[in-house]
Amino acid sequence: MMKEVILIKDGELALKGLNRSVFEGKMISTIKRRLKKYGEFSVTRSQSTVYIEPQSEDFDFSGALDDVGRIFGIAAFCRAGVCQKDMDEILGIAPGYLKETLCAVKTFKVEAKRADKKFPFTSPQICEELGGKLLEAYPHLTVNVHSPDVVITVEIREKGAYIRGGQIKGAGGLPTGTSGKAAVLISGGIDSPVAAYLMAKRGLTLFAIHFASPPYTSVRAEAKVKTLLSKVARYSGPINLAIVPFTEIQEEIGRRCPEDYFTLVMRRMMMRISSRVAANEGCLGLITGESLGQVASQTIHALGATDSVSDLPVLRPLIGMDKEEIVVISKKIDAFETSILPYEDCCTVFTPRHPHTRPKPGQCEAAEKDLDIEPLIEKAISGIQYSFIE
Ligand code: ATP
Ligand code: MG
Repeated sequence: MMKEVILIKDGELALKGLNRSVFEGKMISTIKRRLKKYGEFSVTRSQSTVYIEPQSEDFDFSGALDDVGRIFGIAAFCRAGVCQKDMDEILGIAPGYLKETLCAVKTFKVEAKRADKKFPFTSPQICEELGGKLLEAYPHLTVNVHSPDVVITVEIREKGAYIRGGQIKGAGGLPTGTSGKAAVLISGGIDSPVAAYLMAKRGLTLFAIHFASPPYTSVRAEAKVKTLLSKVARYSGPINLAIVPFTEIQEEIGRRCPEDYFTLVMRRMMMRISSRVAANEGCLGLITGESLGQVASQTIHALGATDSVSDLPVLRPLIGMDKEEIVVISKKIDAFETSILPYEDCCTVFTPRHPHTRPKPGQCEAAEKDLDIEPLIEKAISGIQYSFIE
């Protein structure tokens, strides 16, 4: 078996000027942490390429390749075969190594890069020799220099010759942690895991907050939230979860507030608690899965009423998306099947028959006047249970 490596191209990083090395450093440390479980490997970089080279026989190459596809900040990646810097060896190995790639296409071109200028063939010579060899081995192919189906690249580096086919699109976005940290309000639904994923993609480290109302909500609903977070964590890295006991607050709202304000007051209580818990954890914002107009509590009026009680900015990455667009992402991150499991969420327990959709400023405060807000918040926060999701 020929030795193989993974080559990684960073994406938006290239645009970040002086910050670039910080971004690249974060990306590399994520790669090191995430790939540890697949065996020993080394990470080196030169120009805008990062090289991952297995150092042990039992390195799980395909597991690592799969995981690299979920690391934010990576624009594209590919596997490459490594051999001696010897023309005969390159020509001998390349046709077999590239078989799968070349059988799937009709046209190709070869590109050569020489980091080692002592190599006795010029780049055009390498292209010509290898191009000829591949045409001979795969007669169905033709060369197309302008828009080939695949570009075969040969790189002559210090340590050896690297041969590779086409690139695979990476997870994109910004490396985790380069945008700071934010807390996602996670329910068991379709939307909030997608919102979490999208904001992690923009470089945020995630913290998660879930409101549970036992016995109205079951332990299975909590397990579902943990499963959903573990799906997101495959991209974002580990997530700390705070489960807030919410039963008493909901019962108090049911006793003391007008029914058409139940949902709004409940969401304002969630926001108050979340912004406090999040700030304590060093979070710089809150994330929700709200989408404008999707339900009564997501009108622009209602969003204004919940925003006004949060000290932190509220990020709503799904605000302009239709349900179908959200579902596409939910399926892509493998959360959908879990999200549609039918367990009760606390939001559905005390649903008013005629929810208020256009609260005016001041009306929510009036609806909350008989609620003992501060002690309720403190009690809920003191009852939080934490878990670590990876
Ligand atoms: P989702 O699919 O994310 O549950 P939804 O369309 O059902 O969203 P709502 O139930 O109105 O909408 O919730 C809106 C947002 O409020 C959710 O996306 C989530 O961010 C937050 N949220 C709702 N319920 C909870 C909960 N039990 N714990 C924490 N956050 C919640
Ligand atoms: Mg919901």
